[in-house]
Amino acid sequence: MLQAFLQGAFELIFPDNCLLCRQFLNSRHQRQLCPNCLGSLTLNPTPFSRQPALSTFAFDQAWSVCLYNETAQKLLHAFKYNSKTSLCKTFVPLMIDFIDRYRIPLDKFDLISPIPLHPVRLRERGYNQSSLLSLDLSRHYGISHSENLLIRQKNTTTQTELGAKQRWTNMEGAFKIKNSTDVKDKTIVLIDDLFTTGATLHSAAEALKTAGAARVGVLTLSATI
Ligand SMILES: [Zn+2]
Repeated sequence: MLQAFLQGAFELIFPDNCLLCRQFLNSRHQRQLCPNCLGSLTLNPTPFSRQPALSTFAFDQAWSVCLYNETAQKLLHAFKYNSKTSLCKTFVPLMIDFIDRYRIPLDKFDLISPIPLHPVRLRERGYNQSSLLSLDLSRHYGISHSENLLIRQKNTTTQTELGAKQRWTNMEGAFKIKNSTDVKDKTIVLIDDLFTTGATLHSAAEALKTAGAARVGVLTLSATI
């Protein structure tokens, strides 16, 4: 009873509001989003595979957790550009739910690695949003987290302004491998927040494969389908 009283007092002093609609959250289980907003994040119904055929990509498998609808778009924007790093608490359970539901063999990979930001971009932002996701997933599934497999050598910050064809050209040679002995014969799953054309993930996977990676999978939080 005392605990309930203290919890109530805590909520009065530090009320939680839904990050999107600002509705008051009176349950301690609804930390960031109200049930409506959380419910509007739609899990992809099946493991994601995309046209053009996967054979045109350097990665071997691709999965994406939720549709890039209006809610996902707003949340991802806050996650990337407004320092709402705490959104991991919403995103990671969603990713785990998806991985477990569709039996995505994440734990069979040797390494899990985020798509790195360019060092200039990382300095500006202060964090790599994909790294926050991959770190939590590595802990949950007991996979080695490797933050420094890839180096982003092209600062391609204006992808959203570009058409699909330009994105591909823009991403050519965007990544290099820090140390190929870390990569050789390894199975690696790359984590990113968003799959649009797949050019970024393709370019990263290509660098890994050229350095001798045995298999590369990609898992993104969201995808524009
Ligand atoms: Zn809400």
